[in-house]
Amino acid sequence: MREVPDFPRPGVVFRDLTPVLADPDALRAVVDALQDKIDPDTQVVAAVESRGFLLGAALGYGWRYGVVPLRKPGKLPAVSHRVSYALEYGEATLELPEGAVQPGQRVVVVDDVLATGGTAAAACSLVEAAGGVVTGVSVVLEIPALGGRELLAGRDVSALLAV
Ligand code: IMP
Repeated sequence: MREVPDFPRPGVVFRDLTPVLADPDALRAVVDALQDKIDPDTQVVAAVESRGFLLGAALGYGWRYGVVPLRKPGKLPAVSHRVSYALEYGEATLELPEGAVQPGQRVVVVDDVLATGGTAAAACSLVEAAGGVVTGVSVVLEIPALGGRELLAGRDVSALLAV
C-alpha cells in the first residue's frame, strides 16, 4: 500500500491500494482473506466503483457470487435507485442498476477502503431499497479515525487491516 499526501485535496492522505492489486500474490491473499469473512449465505457481491469492481469480480468468479456494480452517476443505462451522501472530501452519488438485486437476495457490499462510511452506508441503503438483505460490508482497509463503523452501526463490518 502506498500513502499519497494531498490527494485528492490538500490535507488528505490517500491510501492507494494499487500496488497490492498489481501484485499477483498480494491480490490473491487479499481476495482470499475477504472471502474468509463473508457470510456463507451470501449470494451477490455489490461492488463499489471503481476499485470495488476489481475485488468484487474476483470474489464472484472465485466463489460463484453474482456481481452488481454500484456506479457513479451517468454510467448506467437504467437506474433502479440512487443515493447521494457526504464524503471525506466532498459529496458523491451512487446508483444501482435496474433489475440487478432481487428482493430477498443476500448481498455483501465490497470496497477497497472504509473511511467516513458514507459510501458503504449508501451502498447498503441501495441494496435494501431494492429489497436485498445486506449480509455485511467487507473492505481491505479501514481508517478508524474517520469513524466509518459508527455510520454502519448494527452491520457486520469486516476490514483486513486498519491504519
Ligand atoms: P467513505 O465514504 O468516506 O467511507 O470513503 C470510502 C470511499 O472513498 C471508497 O469508495 C474508497 O474507494 C474511497 N476512499 C476514501 N478514502 C480513500 C483512501 O484513502 N484511499 C482509497 N480510497 C479512498
